[in-house]
Amino acid sequence: MAKKELIPRQPMPEQAPEVRSKNFEEVPTGQSPETAIREAERCLQCKKPVCVDGCPVGVDIPGFISLVKEGKFTAAISKVWEKNGLPAVCGRVCPQELQCEGKCIVGKKNEPVAIGNLERFVADYERMNKKASLPEKAAPTGKKIAVVGSGPSGLTVAGDLILKGHEVTLFEAFHKPGGVLVYGIPEFRLPKEIVFSEVAGLEKLGVKLECNAVVGRTISLDELFEEGYDAIYIGVGAGLPRFLNIPGENLIGILSANEYLTRSNLMKAYRYPEYDTPVIKGKNVITLGAGNVAMDSARTALRLGAETSRIVYRRSRDEVPARAAEVHHAEEEGVEFFFLTNPTKFLGNEKGRLTGMEGLKMELGEPDDSGRRRPIPIEGSEFELECDLAIIAVGAGANPLLTQSTEGLKLNKWEYIEADEKTGKTSKKGVWAGGDIVTGSATVILAMGAGRQAADSIHDYLTIGW
Ligand code: FAD
Ligand code: SF4
Repeated sequence: MAKKELIPRQPMPEQAPEVRSKNFEEVPTGQSPETAIREAERCLQCKKPVCVDGCPVGVDIPGFISLVKEGKFTAAISKVWEKNGLPAVCGRVCPQELQCEGKCIVGKKNEPVAIGNLERFVADYERMNKKASLPEKAAPTGKKIAVVGSGPSGLTVAGDLILKGHEVTLFEAFHKPGGVLVYGIPEFRLPKEIVFSEVAGLEKLGVKLECNAVVGRTISLDELFEEGYDAIYIGVGAGLPRFLNIPGENLIGILSANEYLTRSNLMKAYRYPEYDTPVIKGKNVITLGAGNVAMDSARTALRLGAETSRIVYRRSRDEVPARAAEVHHAEEEGVEFFFLTNPTKFLGNEKGRLTGMEGLKMELGEPDDSGRRRPIPIEGSEFELECDLAIIAVGAGANPLLTQSTEGLKLNKWEYIEADEKTGKTSKKGVWAGGDIVTGSATVILAMGAGRQAADSIHDYLTIGW
């Protein structure tokens, strides 16, 4: 019998590197219905779908893929929505290679089924065609919940609890909702319109949104209880920038990635002077770090006109924490990588402006607490790199504003909120927490998973008790 021909993984069309590195349009342009169906045909519909074990919110992956295969795209998005309220976001930014696709059985011998691309396809199809009906809401319970922070974890809690019949208000410190999805991840990776349309969906369901509301400053948690809220969820993220603490770090021309990306994304500095927020546009840009934040910064620098954009990372390529697709895209666009390289000092001129970076080459030693091999400086390997903009992307810490102004909220030694792993309950009665403010900087889908668990626990509390 002739062997069945293997269908190759359907490529995602993208803008060419030399074109996209000069604009802020989205890099992948999306699949057609025909290629989505072809990709869906690659799924083996496993009896024990290991891909689902790799999805932190447990999407019925073979279920929705089989609907795509039949061309039933509206039914497919409804299937995804059962577990994931932000599929257009997750299809674009989840590290699928470490999650669902990393487990896919097809990936043992060939390229795994492109689960992320298919999730994105059905979400985009629905956004353009608007055929699916909104999920059913349970009868009103008369209970009120305040959700603090409108990142992916807060949005998930809000979506889940409104469907269970509770009243939900989202409080957001910024003037726009979406958290990192809006202020951190650039337009060329996640168009803001997609996030706003997911939030609009929640508003249609009845979620109230209060922007410019800095809880802990404009109103405290206890005042929210006094106003009649029955439960509070804290999802304020980990947006406090970390620095290197090396000489010269206060020179003009050194920015935290947080400030650089917020200016460019949320405040639209890339469209200055049409929008009135400026940002330093470096000619020779160095980004310190190699996570998603660093890739986003280095790629943004190119789009803002940098002649060179370099990533300086103290470990090797194998330890790079960014999504594989982002590293690949960055390299294609011309970002240069300096691995096993550690900055020791920033250099400046008489006007206090950055002119360069001094560093040392590193080699890898024994594994450290994180299991990664510890970088050790090589003596006498000093070198200099010229730069007029340096972006520090070496991680972020807990946002302290709310946590430090709230009594009875237990924090761990890194100032993150202590919350039960399974329920998100904190030490303060009626208060739950989840996402980056509990785990430290993690991923969109983990923040959503924590939100889902907390929403279930809040519902139990409101219907059964603490
Ligand atoms: P956040 O998204 O940080 O949202 C918290 C919200 O709370 C913010 O809107 C903030 O303004 C608001 N807030 C803070 N304090 C208050 C207050 N006192 N009162 C009211 N509101 C408040 N993850 C991925 O999976 N894939 C990626 O490709 C990826 N890329 C990233 C790129 C960048 C540049 C960054 C910074 C992160 C990236 N991440 C990525 C990580 C991911 O975005 C986060 O793990 C996730 O957004 C955390 O969600 P969250 O809801 O806990 O918090
Ligand atoms: Fe399909 Fe791969 Fe999941 Fe099996 S593991 S059901 S082949 S996506």
